[in-house]
Formats: sequence, structure tokens, C-alpha cells
Amino acid sequence: MRKSVVAIVGRPNVGKSTIFNRLVGERISIVEDIPGVTRDRIYAEAEWLTSKFNLIDTGGIEIGDEPLLVQMRQQAEIAIDEADVIIFLLNGREGITGADEEVAKLLFKSNKPVVLGINKIDNPEMRETIYEYYSLGFGEPFPISGSHGLGLGDLLDAVVGHFPQRSEEVYDEETIYFSLIGRPNVGKSSLVNAMLNEERVIVSEIEGTTRDAIDTTLTRDEQDYVIIDTAGMRKRGKVYETTEKYSVLRALKAIERSDVVLVLIDAETGIREQDKKIAGYAHEAGRAIVIVVNKWDTVESNEKAMKEFETKVRAHFQYLDYAPVVFLSAKTKKRLHTLLPAVKLASENHAKRVPTNVLNDVIMDAIAMNPTPTLKGKRLKVLYATQVAVKPPSFVVFVNDPELMHFSYERFLENKIRDAFGFVGTPIKLFARRRQ
Ligand code: GDP
Ligand code: GDP
Repeated sequence: MRKSVVAIVGRPNVGKSTIFNRLVGERISIVEDIPGVTRDRIYAEAEWLTSKFNLIDTGGIEIGDEPLLVQMRQQAEIAIDEADVIIFLLNGREGITGADEEVAKLLFKSNKPVVLGINKIDNPEMRETIYEYYSLGFGEPFPISGSHGLGLGDLLDAVVGHFPQRSEEVYDEETIYFSLIGRPNVGKSSLVNAMLNEERVIVSEIEGTTRDAIDTTLTRDEQDYVIIDTAGMRKRGKVYETTEKYSVLRALKAIERSDVVLVLIDAETGIREQDKKIAGYAHEAGRAIVIVVNKWDTVESNEKAMKEFETKVRAHFQYLDYAPVVFLSAKTKKRLHTLLPAVKLASENHAKRVPTNVLNDVIMDAIAMNPTPTLKGKRLKVLYATQVAVKPPSFVVFVNDPELMHFSYERFLENKIRDAFGFVGTPIKLFARRRQ
């Protein structure tokens, strides 16, 4: 089911990131060990009582050198477009400013549920001042203190109370859910359109619960697919659409609901830093991945060019060594027919279970070929392995002492499992656990 999305809007310094960090807690890993991937602190999962939701700090989306008022308006627009509920945060020590009034007008017009947080109310005496905020027209203002963690419970009760009551999204195990991610102009919308117009494809659109969340269902060779959030790919001509943080935000939202993520690269402009960042998010999320090199019509298309481009892709996306690379042109539809079969294969592998006895044969053969490492005179002993999860396939290897499982040996075992079972398109995970 799609999680509700909550956005925090407010002037600089009212305490947006303080509140964001409080609500998100330790869920955010600040630095990733994948080169080039640092998590932007603008979108993360938060939890209140039994509700899990995703939280956006619109203050983290920098929109160039615009004047404050323009930036504020754009942040409010993003919140209106992306969120189910908006937390409008004000500084309780400063009262309502002109910029606050501007934002209030925009939010009011949008008809989205808005919950007023009056921040920096660090002690009870200060609560007297909050009545003036009723004049904004969003009902009860909630006095809070981000730095002291006060009042957040009542604020969140109100937020959760506004979550849309949607019927559970019917998630069909047989259907493959996929999304397309990539920086602006790589050809995401063009590729969706091309797929929908492919001869052998039958299309039906499902209306989402909000105007913005429209998925598209298609069937090819008796396999059902859902393309996540095709509506989000339609251009609305807004200024912030081309900013990097915004494309990351969109990508994260789409990845979350996908089995398979298509990472698009533009053959014409080549690989950019931003491509790596976006791909890193899909990898981190443990989704199956297909790398799509689009605009292949702009390149002299032959086997050699493909090999060369693939070498570049492999060098830049080393952590995606499992992802197949598909070359195509959304414009001319050349090689388009190779895409859905690759998506299907990746999805099947992502959900694959392997028999325990065969898995153990593979592991034991691997050990016979390449003896386990030793550390300080002690040798790693592998007792047995078992698959504990799918999506992505995850394995536990029981050993005498997990400390002895060197990273490179883990990689070796992982590769042997890959070789044996052909997990093309999916990451796999391996954990060493102690067993005497
Ligand atoms: P943002 O620009 O809206 O993201 O605001 P920040 O979260 O960066 O906070 C701006 C400043 O206000 C920082 O110095 C925070 O420590 C401070 N601040 C945040 N919440 C509170 C609060 O509840 N009480 C007080 N006194 N200061 C706060
Ligand atoms: P998005 O921002 O990722 O959705 O990208 P669009 O689908 O809007 O495409 C951006 C631009 O690239 C448009 O001008 C498209 O016509 C062009 N484009 C998309 N796919 C191809 C392709 O396969 N070949 C060529 N030559 N141009 C393409």
C-alpha cells in the first residue's frame, strides 16, 4: 500500500529540519558506503503510533537564488503537489509575517489538509500567544518545541487524522510493479509513451486516489505490469521540476512501490554524476534494477558501440554489476521490444527462492575451491546456509564466528551463489550468523 506523504513547509529558521530530524529519528543513514551516494535529508520514513508515513522537508529543496518569497511559494507548491497532509510551521516567537501570509493563501487555495505547528514554544507560559494563529484559517494551532520535543504527539495525532482513507491498494503477487527513474530529460515520459504504444501491449489505466498518483497497467504476453506514477512524469511546466533535489524526491517516491526500477541514462549526453546518485537510491532500496540506455538512435548503433558504452556503465556503476543493460530508443522504438522481457526476468529473479540442499551444495563446492580465510590463527568454518527472504533474495550463512567472515570472502560466496542461480537484475544479500 502507498504510504501517506507529509510535507513540512515554513520560512527559513522556523525549525523545519529540527522537527524533520525528530520525527525521522535514526532511520536516516547519513553516509552510505557507496561512493557518490550521500543521502539527502529531505525525504524519509517516519512513524507515529501505528502509522508509517513519508516525510518531506521542503526547506531542503534549494531552488536557485530566488528571493525568499519566490522560494517559499515554490516550496508550498511542491508540498501541495506531493503531500497528502501539510504541516505549516511558524515561529511562535515572531508571530505571523508577510511571507507566512503568502504561503497561507496558497495552502488555503489548494484544499489540502493543513496542520499548524507553532514552534519554539519551549515552556507552558508561552502558550498564551498561540491564539493569534487561528486567524490563518487552518483551525487549531499546535504549540510545539522542536528542540525540546514538546507537543509533537498532539500535532501528529492531527496529521494522522487527515490521512486519506483509501481502500487498500490491491497488490497482486503476479503483477510486476516498475518505475522509471533518471534525471530530467533522459526520456522517462517518452519511454512510457513508447511502451504504451507498442503493438503487442494492452493498456488500461487505474485512477489513483489522488489526482497525482496515477499508475498505468499494461499486459504483454499474458504478463501484467503496472508502471508506477506515470502521472508524475507528465510535465506541468513548473520551475522546480528540473532541480536535482526534486528529481531525487520523485525517484524515492517511485522506488518505494516498485519491484523493478528502470534506471535511465541518456546515450546522447553520457553518464552524469546525478545519474549515479539516483541509481544509488534504487540499489540501496534493494529493488531489482534494469539499466536503460535511451536515445540509442543518436549513437552509431552497432555491437561495438554497445560494448563500449556498457564498459562505461560498468565502470561508473560498479555496485550495479548485477543489473542488465538495455539499449533502446524511445523515439524510434528501436530495440524497445527487449525491455519488458528484461524487466520480467529481473522481477522473477528478485522473487526467486532456491532449494536449501542445492544452495548448500553450491556453498560447499565454493569452499572446496577456495578455502575459508583465517584470522589470528583461527579459521572460518561454514556450517550451512539458508535463504531467509525474497525481494531481494537474502541468505544467512551459519558460521563458527562471524568476525572471521572477511568482506572479500563474503563477496566470493555471493558471486558463487549468483553464478549458480543466475540472479540477473537483482541484488542479493548475505549475512553471517554465529552457530556453534
Ligand atoms: P529550518 O531552517 O526551518 O529548517 O530551521 P532549523 O531546524 O534549522 O532551526 C533553526 C534554528 O531554530 C536552529 O538554531 C534551531 O536550533 C532552532 N530551533 C528549532 N526548534 C526550536 C525550538 O523548539 N525552540 C527553540 N528555542 N529553538 C528552536
Ligand atoms: P523526461 O524528462 O525524462 O520525462 O524526458 P522526456 O521524455 O520529456 O524527453 C526529453 C527529451 O528527449 C524530449 O525532447 C524527447 O523528445 C527526447 N527524447 C526522448 N527519448 C528519445 C530518444 O530515444 N531519442 C532521441 N533522439 N530523443 C529522445
